[in-house]
Amino acid sequence: MVIIKGDVKPIIPEKQFDRVQVLIRQRQFTRPKRYGVIYLLSGLLRCKECSGALCGHTQRKPKSGKTYSTYRCHHHLNKGNRICLGVTVKKAKLEQEVLEEIRKFAHFHFEESEANEVLAKDETNDSVEDLKAIDMAIIRLKGKQQKLLTLFEDSSIGKDLLVERMNRIIEELDRLQVKQANLVAETSPREKTKRVSLLEKVKELNDDLFSQSDKIKRSILQQLLKQVIVAKDGSIEIEMYEL
Ligand SMILES: [Zn+2]
Repeated sequence: MVIIKGDVKPIIPEKQFDRVQVLIRQRQFTRPKRYGVIYLLSGLLRCKECSGALCGHTQRKPKSGKTYSTYRCHHHLNKGNRICLGVTVKKAKLEQEVLEEIRKFAHFHFEESEANEVLAKDETNDSVEDLKAIDMAIIRLKGKQQKLLTLFEDSSIGKDLLVERMNRIIEELDRLQVKQANLVAETSPREKTKRVSLLEKVKELNDDLFSQSDKIKRSILQQLLKQVIVAKDGSIEIEMYEL
């Protein structure tokens, strides 16, 4: 047994820890699960109308007691038609459709790659350049934060303005950091190897993919998919991580 006494410095500074928590929340939307529903695609869906997130929603019908789950555009729900006319899709149908696309993709990918050695293809430098640009933008935003604090300390700006500007910067930082995490995941060879072996599993499972537990299905989807864009008519565009 290990006993640690006294002042122990946390491994991750508190502020950074908060930020990491925000990132984790954004990516996975681990909000309390109402009615015990697991949303396989949470954090992955985008509304084609407004590029906002689609969030899981479950209602219980009072008479039958049955639950009814959908994914809905968050912007539409919160801000109404002025911001987005809204996209609503049935949860089960959408999840089934995405899983089927992944199953098909796994099937064709390996047939293709056996012939073409897709995995040995040349890396493009685009994502490296993108990463650099994001790094620079993050540094600039952090500089702006410092500047704002100095202005506040000098009483050049009031608290309201400080809070408003800070919130905007934090929002932008979160957005960039999610993008950064995605790009890192996309370009990291270790992640790629993991994804390829995961896809191989999916191929082996074939139709059994659908009978896996929600947790397994969710984990597969979250690891392979970058995002799924859903249009008003329910049609989808799937964007996968690089393999
Ligand atoms: Zn929308």
